[in-house]
Parts: sequence; C-alpha cells; structure tokens
Amino acid sequence: MRHLIIGASAAGLTAAKTIRSIDRDCEITVVSKDDKVHSRCMLHKYLSGERTAEGISFVPEDFFQENRIEWISGAEVQTVNAVGKTAALADGRTLSFDRLLIATGAQYVVPPVPGLRGAANLYGFRDLSDAEAIDRASQPGSRVVIIGSGLVGMDAAYALLDRGILPVVVEMAERILPLQLDDNAASAYQERFERAGCSFRLNAKAASAEVDENANITAIVLDDGERLPCDYVIIAAGVKPAVGFLDGTPVKPDLLIRVDDHLRTPVEDIYAAGDAAGLSGIWPNAMKQGITAARNMCGEDECYTDLYAMKNTINFFGLTALCIGNINVPGPNADVYIEEDHLNYRKAVVEDGVLKSILLQGDISGGGIYQYLIKNRIRLPYTGSELFRLSFAEFYGFDETSGKYVWQV
Ligand SMILES: Cc1cc2nc3c(=O)[nH]c(=O)nc-3n(C[C@H](O)[C@H](O)[C@H](O)COP(=O)(O)OP(=O)(O)OC[C@H]3O[C@@H](n4cnc5c(N)ncnc54)[C@H](O)[C@@H]3O)c2cc1C
Repeated sequence: MRHLIIGASAAGLTAAKTIRSIDRDCEITVVSKDDKVHSRCMLHKYLSGERTAEGISFVPEDFFQENRIEWISGAEVQTVNAVGKTAALADGRTLSFDRLLIATGAQYVVPPVPGLRGAANLYGFRDLSDAEAIDRASQPGSRVVIIGSGLVGMDAAYALLDRGILPVVVEMAERILPLQLDDNAASAYQERFERAGCSFRLNAKAASAEVDENANITAIVLDDGERLPCDYVIIAAGVKPAVGFLDGTPVKPDLLIRVDDHLRTPVEDIYAAGDAAGLSGIWPNAMKQGITAARNMCGEDECYTDLYAMKNTINFFGLTALCIGNINVPGPNADVYIEEDHLNYRKAVVEDGVLKSILLQGDISGGGIYQYLIKNRIRLPYTGSELFRLSFAEFYGFDETSGKYVWQV
C-alpha cells in the first residue's frame, strides 16, 4: 500500500505518523512546498528574531527517518489525476498513490483593492517563506501597514514591535480580534499594543494602494481619504483552503473540497484534512483530522466529530485569553453573564440552560470543562456568575447510557 500525503504540517505529518503507527510495512511519501517543517503558530517568534527557522519546527530532527517516511520537500503538486491515481509536481515528476491525503492548508486572500494585487512589496503571513520575505524587507524604522487585525495580523504586529518597527493596523470592524473577542476584551489588548507603539485605524477600509513604477506600494489610502505612507504591506484579511490545484478534478467539483464524516472526498481513496478540508482553521483540529483521516486510510472506521465550536487561545504582552464559540452573537433567548475584576474578565452566553460560548481573559483555568460543556451541550446545574467557578469535581460521574458526565449538584 502506497500512501501519498500532500502537506508537511499539522494535518499531514500527524497523519503520516499515525499511518506508520498502524501499518509498519506500507510506503508513506509526504510532498510539500515547505522545505522546512515549521509551526505556523510560532511564525511570529521567527519574525521577531526570538527563534531560528529550526527553532519553530514541531517534529524531532529524525522524524522522517524514524518513521520511515519519504519527504519530498520544496516541491509543489500542480494537479492530481484521480482516475490514474497520480500527482504531478511542478518540476515534472509524477508520484503514484493507492491512497491520497490532501493536507495543503489554507492560503491568504488579497481583497480586490485597486493596486494591492500583484504589488511587489505585499506579503502574507502564512508560512516561513512569507516570514523570511518580511524579514528581508524590514529595516530599522520601516513604515508598515497591516491590513486585518485577526490573530494573524496581530501576530505579525507583535513580532514587528519586538524588532522596533511600529506598524499601523487597519481593521474594518470596530475592534481588534473581532471574531474572537468582544469590545471590552479587545480594548485590553489594544491598549497594550498602543503603549508599545502600534497604531490602529478601526472601522476603516483600505480603499486603494498607491504604487510606484517598480510595482511597490508607497501608501495605503483609506476610505475616509487618510493616506498611510508605507515601505511594505502585510495582508491578513482572511484565508481560503489551498486547493486551487484540484480545480477541474472530481475531488473538487465546486469551490471547496467537501468531505464526509470520515474525511473522504467524493473520490474513493482520496481524503482531506486540516485547513484544506475547510472544517476548522486551528492547529489542534488539523492534527485531530490528520489522525482520523489516517486511520480511515488504513481501513479503520472512524468519524470526525469535533465540529462544534471555534476555540482560540490568545497571548500578547503576558495577557492570556481563551474563547470558545462565538461570544458576539447571542441568540434571541440567550442570557449573557459577565464578571470582571482588575485582573480578569469573563463572559458567558447561555441559551436554554446550555453554555453556548465563553470568553476568559486573565485567568483561563477551567477551559477544559467549558469546552466539554459546550461540545456536549450539557445542561448547566446553575447559571449566574457561579458558572465561572464550575469544576470537573462537581461531576457525579460518567453515565454509560448517555455517554456523558452527569452533575452531582
Ligand atoms: C501566523 C499564524 C498564526 C497562527 N496561530 C495559531 C494559534 O495560535 N493556534 C492555532 O490553533 N492555530 C493557529 N494558526 C492556524 C494553524 O496554523 C492552522 O490551522 C494549521 O497550520 C493548519 O494545518 P494544516 O496542516 O491543515 O495546513 P498548513 O499548516 O497550512 O500546511 C499546509 C502544508 O501544505 C503544503 N502545501 C500547500 N499547497 C501545496 C501544494 N500545492 N503542493 C505541495 N505542498 C503544498 C505546505 O507547504 C504545507 O506544508 C495560525 C496560523 C497562522 C498563519
């Protein structure tokens, strides 16, 4: 049996390791554009200079040797022949497979702002090659505009501040980290970024980019007419699954790859996991999907069920936050509970006695129990601010009939 995995990151390498743990004799080949294994979550540490490229790897040095995995690095898959079971590389090579996993992650999207697309000094912040390009473009005192203040944009801003570059962040929403936080929690981070020298333009849209004769952006013009002169621009305004190379194949009959609960694509023997599958955009879920896809590729029968809620941990300037679910859109029957002291901020959305989402800033302990409650839709024993003090100790035990923990209270 020959397994081919496209992508050497959270989903792809977790899948490769899982396959090897199940089948000692099969052939495993991983092919990736990345020529170094690295964690996207730690890219800011590379850009800030805190770690080297090797220092943001997430596998041991002998990973491929130890697991007898052939790794074709620095190679791009250009198309897949689903019938002939081959993948064609940009360098002309063809790889055959019995089972294929697509774990190609996501790519950044450039919004249709005049002047932005095709500019020479526009950078994404998705992988090591992006971080290396930003590193090369950065000089002391560089003027930088970051478009988008989600986790990726703020990671880039944090890294630049560390090396003495003071970026301007442009955000369409009224607060930074708009998907993860509410106004209160976001302002705690905004203040810290501002104190470090970062500036923000909130409720603002990039309307156009001024470009010189070398295709370099020299300024971003906002919709209110303000002009932000810059030496380069980082775009962090959203991502889409990196599956364009499958256009026109039966694996991707329309805009996205659609997988079933076994992470199978519409084509037999072809699976997808991680950001490429479009089910989630976070590292732990990409790993879990890699495990599920791998087991199914080895003939096991496993469903992927972790579809319940967005979960993010944020840590800037030593202030930590955990958000599970969407804290900003409570349903019409929802109750919102808030508790705050000088160190901590907590907010929970409860609907029909069930916890829907939670935001903890400061002390984030107890995250595991809230995740369990949200995922399993377990009725709370009580609401009000008492719910911020729930612990697993209050569970009576595991009920075999329902397959869930039950409360003691
Ligand atoms: C700056 C940043 C910070 C982040 N911070 C966090 C965080 O704090 N917590 C968290 O949970 N998540 C975070 N994420 C998201 C997390 O990194 C992703 O969810 C995760 O990397 C997805 O893993 P993946 O294996 O699906 O794809 P990716 O990690 O995107 O890897 C895709 C792989 O496919 C390869 N590839 C792509 N196309 C091709 C092709 N055509 N041919 C060959 N190879 C190809 C790439 O080279 C790469 O090896 C962050 C992401 C970024 C960019």
